Amino acid sequence: MTSLSPGTAGRHPAERADSAELVRGRTTLGDYELTILSDGFYLLDGGAMFGVVPKTLWQKRAPADAENRILLGLNTVIVRTGRHTVAIETGIGNKLSNKLRAIYAAKQQLPRAFAAAGIRPEEVDIVINSHLHFDHCGWNTTKSSDGRVAPTFPNARYFAHRGEVAHGHLQLERDAVSYISDNYDPLVASGQMTLLDTEPGETTPIVPGIAVECFPGHTAQLLGIHIESGGIGSGGPHACYISDLIPTSAHLDPTWVMGYDLDPVTCIAERKRFYARAVPEQWLVLFTHDHHTPYAHIAVNDRGKPVVAER
Ligand SMILES: [Zn+2]
Repeated sequence: MTSLSPGTAGRHPAERADSAELVRGRTTLGDYELTILSDGFYLLDGGAMFGVVPKTLWQKRAPADAENRILLGLNTVIVRTGRHTVAIETGIGNKLSNKLRAIYAAKQQLPRAFAAAGIRPEEVDIVINSHLHFDHCGWNTTKSSDGRVAPTFPNARYFAHRGEVAHGHLQLERDAVSYISDNYDPLVASGQMTLLDTEPGETTPIVPGIAVECFPGHTAQLLGIHIESGGIGSGGPHACYISDLIPTSAHLDPTWVMGYDLDPVTCIAERKRFYARAVPEQWLVLFTHDHHTPYAHIAVNDRGKPVVAER
């Protein structure tokens, strides 16, 4: 198993702007290969990312710039099972307005990350979105200079939760800005996206070795993506892309939930439900927004708090 050197909480004031950092890690999970591709780091308000946690505490783990923004990753995981090439999450994409692109300092680099890793988008036969906020499904489709939108992965079947599409269409005042319909509506209309009805706590198989489980809280139907070499339930090595339930390794404390979470109390309960399996079963946890630590095993420290396991 290869891995990145563990991330430090240091750096940020926007690292080195010229650092490509396209491929964030590569590792194996039994017979499967996992490759972490980055759509680039982006910047979000640190207070929003840590909810009610005081800055004096969170800034030790996530340094803020003069505008109080912290650096976050946009991690797409490619799983090669031998039978399938699965893309989990597709970054921010290239459909943001100029204003929003500047606010987030979005890099739009996922296509270059595919090229750097030697993976062609045409090889991907499964795309899974944990939810449909724009920073998770942005490269589902690509906007060309004439304004037309086309699937980035022409040979893939896409999967997302039906409730996420419905919620996006409501355009509620709380989170309308998070949903960009060109990321999913054209795929639903063409039949290329399969909509799932997975209930909270339920698991739905996608292909052998890959399944989704509904962990509500960040959104009502957030999906975690399970990966188990040998097949789900085989007892083989297991990884889970837990998405925005635990966005970075700085968010492991069950109570350090985000201001963005629609239901923070449910997030706390769902994190505990997750750790009850992920720690004893030694799952590899894949973090959606951790630029420096894209994956880690989790242990419980002597104060009973989940922490990144020492290797
Ligand atoms: Zn997110």
